[in-house]
Amino acid sequence: MKSCPKCGKEKEVGEFYKSSSTKSGYSSWCQACDREKGKRYRAEHLDKNKLRAKTYNVVCREKCAEKLRRWRERNRDKTNAYSRIMRETNPVYNYSQQLKCRLYKALRDERYPNRPLMEYLEISTVQKFREYLLTTFFNRYGRYPSTGEAVEIDHIIPTHTATSLEDVDRLNRVSNLQLLTRIDNQKKGSKHVT
Ligand SMILES: [Zn+2]
Repeated sequence: MKSCPKCGKEKEVGEFYKSSSTKSGYSSWCQACDREKGKRYRAEHLDKNKLRAKTYNVVCREKCAEKLRRWRERNRDKTNAYSRIMRETNPVYNYSQQLKCRLYKALRDERYPNRPLMEYLEISTVQKFREYLLTTFFNRYGRYPSTGEAVEIDHIIPTHTATSLEDVDRLNRVSNLQLLTRIDNQKKGSKHVT
């Protein structure tokens, strides 16, 4: 008989794993305790691996987004040409770009009230639109953006999923818009997060 210091039980030697690293030639813990330990170790280890993979993905995605942004800046002529061809050949893309452009213009310049846009958004003023976006930000982060903080309008369901003009309309309604920090928006990429 041999006693296990882990569970404190006296057990037959056969209930201990053979071990070459101990004097007795048997593991000091009984098989049941050893198995428990292994299970726990693997569970912890798995979690650690998962976390590592997750962290890597976030870091990588941020790097990729940053790289893409820089590439676009350096190759503005190429991206502009691509965008032009897309607008000329793809009416859905064209309409989507038009609406996005109108949204940003309206937000940037309050002297340009853009009444048709406000009617379209079913919001009475640019101020209201801005307040709406700030509310989505507050609901998400529990605070308002700080001065100078980079924030971006995010289409919750990405506009590139649109396959018809109706889709574009639907995806540009305020209910599909939210304000995110630039970092979160870049992290999101084209993934749909809520
Ligand atoms: Zn034991």
